Amino acid sequence: MKPNMHYGELKDSYLFYNISKKINEYLSENPGKKLYRMGIGDVSLPLCESVIKALHEGVDDQAVKEKFHGYMPECGAPFLRETIAKYYGRRGVELASDEVFVSSGASDELGDILDLFDKSNTALVIEPAYPAYVDANVMAGRKIIHLASGEYNGFLPDPDESMDADILYICSPNNPTGAVFGKEKLKKWVDFANERGAVILFDAAYEAFIEDESLPHSIFEIEGARMCAIEICSLSKTAGFTGTRLGYTVIPKTLEREGMNLNAMWVRNRTTKTNGISYILQKGGAAVFTEEGQEQIHRNIAIYKKNAKVLMAALDQLGIWYCGGKNAPYIWLKCPSGMGSWEFFDYLLQEVQVIGTPGEGFGKCGEGYFRFSTFGSPEDTERAAELLVQLLGSK
Ligand code: PLP
Repeated sequence: MKPNMHYGELKDSYLFYNISKKINEYLSENPGKKLYRMGIGDVSLPLCESVIKALHEGVDDQAVKEKFHGYMPECGAPFLRETIAKYYGRRGVELASDEVFVSSGASDELGDILDLFDKSNTALVIEPAYPAYVDANVMAGRKIIHLASGEYNGFLPDPDESMDADILYICSPNNPTGAVFGKEKLKKWVDFANERGAVILFDAAYEAFIEDESLPHSIFEIEGARMCAIEICSLSKTAGFTGTRLGYTVIPKTLEREGMNLNAMWVRNRTTKTNGISYILQKGGAAVFTEEGQEQIHRNIAIYKKNAKVLMAALDQLGIWYCGGKNAPYIWLKCPSGMGSWEFFDYLLQEVQVIGTPGEGFGKCGEGYFRFSTFGSPEDTERAAELLVQLLGSK
């Protein structure tokens, strides 16, 4: 047997593995020290009431012969596909329910969806980026173009004719920078993809955090996107499903390349490679989209937004450059005094036990930057902000 040798081309250690190694080393030298974890993007608030109620109902249904569900449809329960299609309708995006696929989360989907593309395709990744985009393509042996972005373009680059790529990753609101593509900028990418016959993989995992009315939540708000885009979404951050697992993917029936219909291909893929998502989870997921559920999840999001304000106020006071925080749960800042991003990580860990994520882990152009997540508890976030001001204010 010959293993997939491309695994040997992956970068040695994964970003979060490295971080936890450093934290464990610190704790073994300083047992019992309190840490302020503003690093990994996991949520801290529990599932909202409506979801919990629906999950309980789902469990109870499974105990009753007449309501019991066995295998679920591979592409998602019709009730949830319809609910999600209607959710898009609220923003003027008309979707048929069979253009929505229920998934077990965005990570799983970002990996699996690559089955639709030939190995000879080139992937373009706008960096800094969520590391899984690059790694999933390295594993598949695809050529990758790393498109750097920076403060000079607000971390929102435009396409240009020299980019010879077939699969284009766009994450908006962005992890890690918090930058969000406006409609005009996003239209440039849609036009570029349609001109070239490329496909955009649009990661909208953080759409629920957008508060500026003018910004698009979905790429399908852009004219022409139905001919070139796949949108991947998640309830992880929107509704606290990181440990419960549920997401959804939109593939328009109008998306075709070389005579192949990508929606039909994905139906074929799912019916071969999955046996559907648990009925109980889909019941819980549907509750997110009810009026009550929306109100409750937005109450939780508001708590994370308040954390963002606390951190942004501290950075303003310190005169440190940052972006994000407003329409995204991440704040992306420039390391002070010209420090490197791992150097700044070590400095904060040693001096004040505040943990963030070094920007370099999101691509080369992230060097010199740092990410704070706003998913921590309000108490820890407030204390972390005070500690940052004390430490960096005296520098
Ligand atoms: N996409 C982005 C940009 C993310 O930041 C994350 C998780 O942090 C995911 C996808 C994965 O989400 P899920 O929990 O649905 O797998």
